Amino acid sequence: MALLANRESQLFIDGKLVAGSAGTFPTINPATEEVLGVAADGSAEDMGRAIEAARRAFDETDWSTNTELRVRCVRQLQQAMTERVEELREITIAEVGAPRMLTSAAQLEGPVADLSFCADTADNYQWTTDLGVAEPMGIKTHRTLAREAVGVVGAITPWNFPHQINLAKLGPALAAGNTVVLKPAPDTPWCAAVLGELIAEHTDIPAGVVNIVTSSDHGVGALLSKDPRVDMVSFTGSTATGRSVMADGSATLKKVFLELGGKSAFVVLDDADLAGACSMSAFTASMHAGQGCAITTRLLVPRARYDEAVDAAAATMAGIKPGDPNDAGTVCGPLISARQRDRVQGYLDSAIADGGRFAAGGGRPADRDKGFFIEPTVIADLDNNAKAAREEIFGPVLTVIAHDGDDDAVRIANDSPYGLSGTVFSADPERAAGVAARLRVGTVNVNGGVWYSADVPFGGYKQSGVGREMGLAGFEEYLEIKAIATAV
Ligand code: NAD
Repeated sequence: MALLANRESQLFIDGKLVAGSAGTFPTINPATEEVLGVAADGSAEDMGRAIEAARRAFDETDWSTNTELRVRCVRQLQQAMTERVEELREITIAEVGAPRMLTSAAQLEGPVADLSFCADTADNYQWTTDLGVAEPMGIKTHRTLAREAVGVVGAITPWNFPHQINLAKLGPALAAGNTVVLKPAPDTPWCAAVLGELIAEHTDIPAGVVNIVTSSDHGVGALLSKDPRVDMVSFTGSTATGRSVMADGSATLKKVFLELGGKSAFVVLDDADLAGACSMSAFTASMHAGQGCAITTRLLVPRARYDEAVDAAAATMAGIKPGDPNDAGTVCGPLISARQRDRVQGYLDSAIADGGRFAAGGGRPADRDKGFFIEPTVIADLDNNAKAAREEIFGPVLTVIAHDGDDDAVRIANDSPYGLSGTVFSADPERAAGVAARLRVGTVNVNGGVWYSADVPFGGYKQSGVGREMGLAGFEEYLEIKAIATAV
């Protein structure tokens, strides 16, 4: 693997590292705005070759049926990433602007460790089920169910947690027997491109089984959704793009798996430790500059204690200074790009225009003239209908909203086009469980519990997505079921 400085990453097509036929595009350090190096710019032609290679590898090799090979290969990839974890950490901090402390968790080491779950699942999976003999329509028949890989998977990923999302698709898709074309976000090409380098050097993954096409052109990713040779698209990104992926996939009726945006609620009931809960909510919303789809960005608090709640959240956020992601103590690094920072600033402006006020933060930090930083910001005095309370901001921004009791809190939490995640805090675990059960979301944290884990399925209700990633459910997304009926 080349050193970080002046790195020039390549495409990975049909087992070979190759240049992009559209040249290269720069990769930028979001904390300094410096050009780090370049990535290969894949064209439509490159994508066509990658899809062809994945198709051939699926149709003409034993990859989909050789479970022992696949389990070994997934473990080899994990081993290679583990051995190079310090280099991967430096790339991740520089390219993603990810705080160093998060690279020992979900930003890098967590998803690498989670590859074991994929290998173990494939190793122990019941690939066939004997349903025994029956006599449907009077014909004596022995029925068997076989689980088989879907085929060629197009994996399209965003920039916020690139290793987590790339590996949460590649791991189960490969372990289940699929071949893959990975198209990462243009903002974080290196985190994906290194996988090609490691696969080529350190694994027995056959040529064509994994292909990685970095590109500055979003349209190159869209080809995956449209191409009839692709059987399934596994997409993580914004709800707007998810809609395009689904529409593009409809022409060939391919399986479409979507992990999309969120506007999750942190519900504090009136018996909870208000200051502690609000402080935790503010801390969570500041992590990685709020660039996490499942972060709870609406803090719902009892109306009678609204001011106290705002003050507690503001005190925590005011103490979190946006900082250099290289520093071990940094919680809130930069946003990924100037475009993203401007987008967040637009939401902050809309909050004021809608009658809100900033109890902490509110814009760019005065002490940073370089880097795409935004101060952790608490917005008060808005209701759930305001734009900043309804739309996903994807910045370190928390909107505090008053509720009038448990039913009202549930109503507000569910009054969203999204349904990704949620949190409930209460001194009474049964009461908290009752509220959690009424939230229309895919994951719920009760009193600080952690749902993020290799064996826990993650995904959204409503416009937050279709399907589940991780866990056994995430593995089975990449399988078809075939019923075989043999007359006896
Ligand atoms: P995005 O939707 O702009 O881009 C995601 C990916 O889609 C990129 O690789 C991009 O190049 C590609 N793309 C863009 N247009 C496309 C098209 N028409 N067809 C096919 N591919 C296309 O998202 P982003 O800005 O990179 O990431 C932020 C978004 O991702 C947020 O909305 C966030 O909530 C969401 N996200 C969701 C989850 C989840 O699991 N639910 C996880 C992380 C991020």
